[in-house]
Amino acid sequence: MNLILIGPQGSGKGTQAGRLAKRFGLCHLSSGDILRSVEGELKEEVNEFMKRGELVPNELVFKVLKKSMESSKCKKGFILDGFPRNKAQAEELKKIVNIDKCIEIVISDVEAMKRISGRRTCAKCGAVYNVDSLRPKVEGVCDLCGGRLVIRDDDNESALKRRLQLYHRETEKILPMFNFVKIDGEQDASEVFRNILKVLE
Ligand code: AMP
Repeated sequence: MNLILIGPQGSGKGTQAGRLAKRFGLCHLSSGDILRSVEGELKEEVNEFMKRGELVPNELVFKVLKKSMESSKCKKGFILDGFPRNKAQAEELKKIVNIDKCIEIVISDVEAMKRISGRRTCAKCGAVYNVDSLRPKVEGVCDLCGGRLVIRDDDNESALKRRLQLYHRETEKILPMFNFVKIDGEQDASEVFRNILKVLE
C-alpha cells in the first residue's frame, strides 16, 4: 500500500504518518525530515531554502526521495508525508509509482499559526511537542530519547507565512490530480487517526 498524506504546517501529518506506518508496517517518508538530514555539499544549499520557508528545488527533492522509496525498508509500501508539494513533483511521482490512497488533513491558517508558534522539536529524533497542548515530562527534554527540544529554524512567523502561502498556491494544485479524501485535522489526534483508518478500510 502506498499512501500520500498532505496538510498545512501543524496539521499533524507527521504524527499521523508515524502511527500509520507502525500500524501497517509501511515506511514513513517525510520529505522534510529527509531534507533536514542531507549531509555533505548539498546541506548548505538545502538549508538556505528551508529556513526561508521556500520549497527546495524539485530535482533535488526527487533525487533524495526516490533513493528512500527504493530502499528495502519500503518494500511493503510507504507513506509520503509532505511530498508531492507541487504539480511537477506530482507528475514525476505518477510516472514511477502507483498510489493507493491520498489524504489531506485540513486545518485553518489561524490554527496552523497557533500550533507552530508553540511547537518544539527534538533535535535528536524529531519528535514533536507543544508548549500548550503536548508538554514533555521534563521541560526542554524529549520523553522518547532524552534529546534537547528546540524551535525549528523555519518555525518563525515570516517563514511560516511563506510556507502557508506556498501550501495554498502550489500544494493545493495537486488535489485534483489524485483522489484526495479530506479529513478535519482540528479534532483530537486520536479522532483524526480513526477517521484516516476509516478511509483506508
Ligand atoms: P516540513 O517538515 O514538511 O514542514 O518541510 C520543511 C521544509 O522542507 C519545507 O518548508 C521546504 O523547505 C522543504 N520541503 C519539504 N518537502 C518538500 C517538497 N516536497 N518539495 C520542496 N521542498 C520541501
